[in-house]
Amino acid sequence: MVIKAVKGVKDILPKDIGKWRRVEDSAREVFGRYDYREIVLPIFEKSEVFVKSVGETTDIVQKEMYSFLDKGGDALTLRPEGTASCVRAYIEHSMYHPKGTVTPLFYIGPMFRRERPQAGRFRQFHQIGAELFGTDDPAADAEVMHLLMTFLKTVGARKPKLLLNSLGDDKCRPAFRQSLVDFLANRKESLCPLCKERYETNPLRVLDCKSETCAETVRSAPTIDSFWCDDCADHFQKVRKALYGLNIEYEINHRMVRGLDYYSRTVFEVTASGLGAKDAVAAGGRYDALVKKSGGPDVPAIGWAVGMERLIESIGDSAGEKTNDTAPDICIVHLGERAHGEAFRVAGLLREQGRKVLCPYRQTSMKKQMGRADKSGAKLAVIIGEEEFNKKTMLVKNLSTSTQKEHPIGDIRKIAAEPPA
Ligand SMILES: [Zn+2]
Ligand SMILES: [Zn+2]
Repeated sequence: MVIKAVKGVKDILPKDIGKWRRVEDSAREVFGRYDYREIVLPIFEKSEVFVKSVGETTDIVQKEMYSFLDKGGDALTLRPEGTASCVRAYIEHSMYHPKGTVTPLFYIGPMFRRERPQAGRFRQFHQIGAELFGTDDPAADAEVMHLLMTFLKTVGARKPKLLLNSLGDDKCRPAFRQSLVDFLANRKESLCPLCKERYETNPLRVLDCKSETCAETVRSAPTIDSFWCDDCADHFQKVRKALYGLNIEYEINHRMVRGLDYYSRTVFEVTASGLGAKDAVAAGGRYDALVKKSGGPDVPAIGWAVGMERLIESIGDSAGEKTNDTAPDICIVHLGERAHGEAFRVAGLLREQGRKVLCPYRQTSMKKQMGRADKSGAKLAVIIGEEEFNKKTMLVKNLSTSTQKEHPIGDIRKIAAEPPA
């Protein structure tokens, strides 16, 4: 029996890596424009890092985490998302010092959730995420959304559309939650099985359930905006004004909540065409209480994450395929047993000098090798046969003009530094 990859995980093959590289390179470049610094976080953490912050009643924690006891008996979890780890690191390394410091961070890497296998969902998936610690300025909310939209446009996501809401805060959300529970109390029977559970544990999530009957049921449900306290309403208006100033189009959706417990005030999602209409390519929000709740100082924060698989699906096949497939600079053509060894010695020297070199392992006919060199797009061929080997020379052929010249083999460094025209 051949062993295959685990269900729900996949290999990213060399033929696809160009797109992945391009997305990651663009992310690093765009983050740089906003002065975000990269942080590389561990792939597993103590389970409590996620249970506490993501929320015990969320789908992620209840059903989807890869948690295990290691050989020492420690309860560990493969990270299902990046924010909780980022907050843990932010506190552990006292990145809030000195007081008032604003800390913009980003990360790129795999996440793990045991989701039901379905199209476009993977149990190991990849995210690019941004986290901005240290400010509750509404301008920061607009700026992180601007950063996200700029990144999505730079990589060529098709028609990204921003959806915006505010979930209120600890002051005003409890009243909304109660009003929603009251509303759902005598409509429980029309909810899907999952939402019947959510009604007890996490009623806000009923609002963005993807089942048709739940969507119908909550159509006349109360919405958060009529419960906002003055501060939350004011914050939302200022965020909208700042978005307007940045020329960012968005749609307000007061039924949008997020699948994680830690969000407060601003939440947002981005959908893109080429994906199912209900699937977001990116999502994020403000989490002003999380750092304190996790044992740190009272520092507000906001962030988002992009799902790389979905983003790459949305970009389609048009872009970036060939990133890793550039033509070689030099092809080596060799004939004869002794020339074989010499060819690889020369290839090694050229590569040390920064040249991209193709050198075949198997010697076919001179004609076949030259045909391959012509097709490769290389500028030069270096030809070493028995005769050249004996004379300690090589033929250097310009593949576009077809002119060739014999050089002493000792010239190889010179040719590497300055290939003849
Ligand atoms: Zn439902
Ligand atoms: Zn409020």
